Formats: sequence, structure tokens, C-alpha cells
Amino acid sequence: MKISFSSPTLPKSGVLVLLLPEGGALAGLAADADSRTQGQVSRAIKAAGFTGRRDSTLDLVAPGGGYNRIVVFGLGAPASLRHLDLEMLGGAIAGVLQSVKAESAVIAADVTMGGLQAKESAALIGSGLCLRVYSFNHYKSKKPDTRQLKDAVILTPDAKGARQRFPAFEAVAEGVHLARDLVNEPPNTLHPVAFAERMKPLAKLGLTVSVMTPAQMKKLGMNALLGVAQGSDHEARIVVMQWNGGKRGDQPLAFIGKGVTFDTGGISIKPAQGMEDMKGDMGGAACVAGLMLALAKRKAKVNAIGAIGIVENMPDGKAQRPGDIVKSMSGQTIAVLNTDAEGRLVLADVLWYIQDRFKPKFMIDLATLTGAILVALGKEHAGLFSNNDELAHRLSEAGYATGEKVWRMPLAPEYDKIIDHDVADVKNTGGRHAGSITAAQFIQRFVNNVPWAHLDVAGTAMDGPRSAINQSWGPGWGVRLLDRFVAQYYEK
Ligand code: MN
Ligand code: ZN
Repeated sequence: MKISFSSPTLPKSGVLVLLLPEGGALAGLAADADSRTQGQVSRAIKAAGFTGRRDSTLDLVAPGGGYNRIVVFGLGAPASLRHLDLEMLGGAIAGVLQSVKAESAVIAADVTMGGLQAKESAALIGSGLCLRVYSFNHYKSKKPDTRQLKDAVILTPDAKGARQRFPAFEAVAEGVHLARDLVNEPPNTLHPVAFAERMKPLAKLGLTVSVMTPAQMKKLGMNALLGVAQGSDHEARIVVMQWNGGKRGDQPLAFIGKGVTFDTGGISIKPAQGMEDMKGDMGGAACVAGLMLALAKRKAKVNAIGAIGIVENMPDGKAQRPGDIVKSMSGQTIAVLNTDAEGRLVLADVLWYIQDRFKPKFMIDLATLTGAILVALGKEHAGLFSNNDELAHRLSEAGYATGEKVWRMPLAPEYDKIIDHDVADVKNTGGRHAGSITAAQFIQRFVNNVPWAHLDVAGTAMDGPRSAINQSWGPGWGVRLLDRFVAQYYEK
């Protein structure tokens, strides 16, 4: 889809989208020389009793004046609209345009909204359009309908400003779409080796992409991660992506993702019901990949590392057993009591490696780690665990700004005791109670004094919340959150 910005002179074809403040007048049409159309729309608004209430729409088919349709969107009180509301508005507009099979549209966004600059509100609406227009249909042998939104022109008094502002949003949307594609992809095609291969072309954007093989991991002593992978025919991979857009020598920000391309549970096998969803057990890794794409594409002024640990957890004659003890790269020994608590084993080695090699400013890991986080928070918040109040606060703020919300959960020595083991240093499960917390405590044992946050995204990164800007099973959750977090706090 091509999105462009233009000053408010209305082309007269396709679908025209107008924005109506509650109880207000049609700003978009004010610039229209065609007073007949304006009169018709005003009469229709009156006749339909359309007040401009937020989230309401009025659809006028074949209104004349050269348009196929005019769709009027209620804005509510424009002054109350925040950044996210405008993205959601863009998403809602895209939803309507898709449902009426519009191929081209003109969106009259020349209304002052939320005290935002005209270029900002226009770019945000464009962002919402991009985020919403997404489909994952390569597996349909017949394409359902070829008519889709190809062209959208957003009318704004500051077209030049919007053109400068928009590419950063477009970059983030592209990152979100990459994350969605990865999560939606079936597990027979997106196995660990294939996932790593798909990261290599990101080097074209200026990222340094390096891929680690099991032989290299073995040398480093990453037996926690390798133990998870040993039941699979597909070799494990670790991909490290580096973006150096900041000052030379500035400590990098590190993002680490759990990439279990399919989680059967291993020998502690999961029930059949819903197991197919475990193709999404790499949602954390997908987010990190999407984030790195976004940072590189918009040339973020920051040094960042994205690291993903990619394995497939399968039952097999070679698979690890409940009761096995493995020695992690950190030197700590782990009793694997439940082979379905595998994500933390992967993270243990990747986090250790990243803090050891790169001395990051902080580490943030994302993992579809526990069902328990869904019990606690549902799909509306991801669980946030952190050893650092500033980091936690900043993530919360970025969450509210982007609608990808996080809720802080506790860490405490009392919980940590639960995962002590009588033979090994630590066990990989603390039982049912406080399951998300003991999982986070486990990960914390592999974090030294570096500021760290862990996001348990089991409820949000696969089959996540649907909204005006996302209708996909794989939501690409976290890319916008972390991009905002980086832009807001680390690029100044
Ligand atoms: Mn599992
Ligand atoms: Zn898992």
C-alpha cells in the first residue's frame, strides 16, 4: 500500500473519508469547491442523525461529485485525542476501507486534534493505516479477493512535515509486520535453522547479523539451551543482531527473545488440545527481530543488540528427560524437572552470553514463558519483572503510550527459595503457585548486576489482543512498545 500526503485540495475519485468532531462542522469539505457535494453530505449527516460521536461512522454510497463513497468518521472531542487514539483512528479507517473493498482513498485529516501538530496527527493516521493493512495469506491456493487498498492520500495542512515524519512510523509498522509473519508462520517451515536464515537479509539495512551453531554453543558451555534442542532434528541457532546508530563506545541496549519455534513440551508432553498454538512460542524472538528492523530502518540514534535463542522442543529418543541435570554457560547447574519449562533454559544461556560479551547498558528479555501469566493478566497486559525501578517505569510508560501495556509483578528472595534444588543449584520449575514469578526468579539467577527487565508475553505475543490496528493471530506485540521506549528515553 502506498501512503502519501497532500495539502487539502480534494481529488474527486475513489472513497473520500471525512472526520467530524462531535457537534462540529466538516473541516475536510471546507476546502472543497464542489458546494453541491458539501450540501449533500451535510444533509445526509442531518437526516441520519449523525452527531460525530467517537467511533461512529456514516457511509454514503455513490454520493456524486466523483466519489464512489464518502465515509464520515465521528471524532468525538478532537482535543481529547492522544497519539494512540489517532493510530487507532487510522486503523479503524483502514478497516472500513478494506470492508468496502476500496482500492484508493482520500482521507481529509485537516482537523486539529489533541493539540498535536498537523504533521504529527497526519503521520499517526498513516501509521494506523499501515499497521492495520496486513494479511497472512501465502498458504491460500486461491487468493480470496484481489481488490485491496493500494493508495491512500492523507490531506493535511502540513504535507511537507508529514512526509518527513511518516517514514519512522512506516519503519516501525514494517517491523511489526515482520514479527507478525514470523509468529503466524507454521512450525514446519519456520524451524530454528529457517528462522536464522530469515534474519540474514536484515544485514542489508546496516545491521550486523551473526549466527551461532551448536558447535560454537557447545564450546561456550551453553548446555542449558542445547539440552532443550537435543530432541529435535533441527539444530539450534542463536542470532545476534547489532545496530550501531549511536555514539561509538556507548554501551548497547540489549533485547533478548525466546525463540522456541515449536514447543511440544518435550518428554513432559503437552495435551493435544491447542498444541498447534505452540508455533507462537517464538513470539519474544519475533518481537526482537521486528524491533531491530525498525531501529535500523529508521536509523535510530542508539547502539542496540538483538539476540534470539532459537530451538525446537521435541520428544525423541535423544530428548532430555525430566530429572536431567545440565550445566549452563554461567557454571550453575540446573535440574530439569519439567521439560516443558524450556524457555527459561534457553534464556539462561543467551542472557549470560550477552551480558558477558557486550556489557550492555541493560537487558530486556521477552518470552512467551508461562501460562500462569495469562491466568494473572489475560491478554491486556504482559507481565513485567525487573531489578530496576527506572527501567520498569519507562517500560510501563511506553506501554500506555502504545497500547502494548505491561504490569509489574514482584520479585523477592522468598520466591527465589522455591526454585532451590537439593542436588543441583536450581530447578527449572517451582510448581503451580506463582508460576510466572518463579520463572522470572529463575531467569534472574542468570543476570549479574546489569539492569534487567523480563517481559512474560505468553498472553500478548501470540493470539494477542485484537484492536483497530491489529486483526492478526500473531500480533507483532512489543515492537511498538520497545521502539517507543528506545526513542523516548535513549535517543536524546
Ligand atoms: Mn514449554
Ligand atoms: Zn515454551
